Amino acid sequence: MPRPLDPATYEALAERLRFYRDLGLTDFYRRDVESAAAIDDPELGRSVAEELAEREGLLQAAIDAAAQSAAETPVQQPNFFAEEPAIKTRKPIQAPEIGAVVPAEDRAAALQMIRDEIGDCTRCALHKGRNSVVFADGSPTARLMFVGEGPGADEDAQGLPFVGRAGQLLNNMISAMGLKREEVYIANVVKCRPPGNRTPEPEEANTCSPFLFRQIDVVRPQVLVALGATAATYLLGARQPLAGLRGRVHAFRGRSLIVTYHPAFLLRDPRQKKEAWADLQIAMKELGLKAPARG
Ligand code: SF4
Repeated sequence: MPRPLDPATYEALAERLRFYRDLGLTDFYRRDVESAAAIDDPELGRSVAEELAEREGLLQAAIDAAAQSAAETPVQQPNFFAEEPAIKTRKPIQAPEIGAVVPAEDRAAALQMIRDEIGDCTRCALHKGRNSVVFADGSPTARLMFVGEGPGADEDAQGLPFVGRAGQLLNNMISAMGLKREEVYIANVVKCRPPGNRTPEPEEANTCSPFLFRQIDVVRPQVLVALGATAATYLLGARQPLAGLRGRVHAFRGRSLIVTYHPAFLLRDPRQKKEAWADLQIAMKELGLKAPARG
């Protein structure tokens, strides 16, 4: 007999549907439940059909409320650098030579060696205001790697990348790709929080990014996704408008690199989620992934 959803599952389902709607996916359906319609649920004292009808109504109300909230949230006109102040003109990055292949079984230890080398780092000015060196999170043998700009307040407090609201959105994006967060690898250009969440100065990013390149060479992901203009700039070695980098596959250290919006930007301008989803679909195609069935 079908059982009513528990509140946690129900809320997770509602959240997932709201996320798909934010991405522009609006045609939802659920499987035929006629076979359950005539079954009485003794715990509820009414038919399962009545329960489903009520839950569907509540779910639609939740979706409508989310849409209303989004519509009432003031949004700025798309400005690809609005959430990432312009990076100052500087010399092109001299990326280090690609590291030797590390066997899959040794990658966790190799990453730990990099972390140990960073230590209680004072190599750049960002060390002064940080609580944690935010190294990375995820699988040392991930096929997919996300690279962001730098830790925010939540990340600095917890010592992990993408754990705040932007992190929750990134988790939703990963889930929509049919993956779990533990299956991917997540890191940032700089490992210490810039004061006030400002964009890292070139000197800071250039000092810290060699560690990121080494992490990439150890993990050897098939596909990297640069989240935002700062990550794209420091990975690709030259500042370019985000609009000119999105929507295609870049060759990067023997890997494929896709550029998309930073989740923090998507929180500020949810209309761009559909564009971000299009970018993620390019990454999925590179990985041979299909989106999980909806419904
Ligand atoms: Fe060291 Fe990187 Fe932190 Fe700068 S941002 S202090 S280079 S770990």
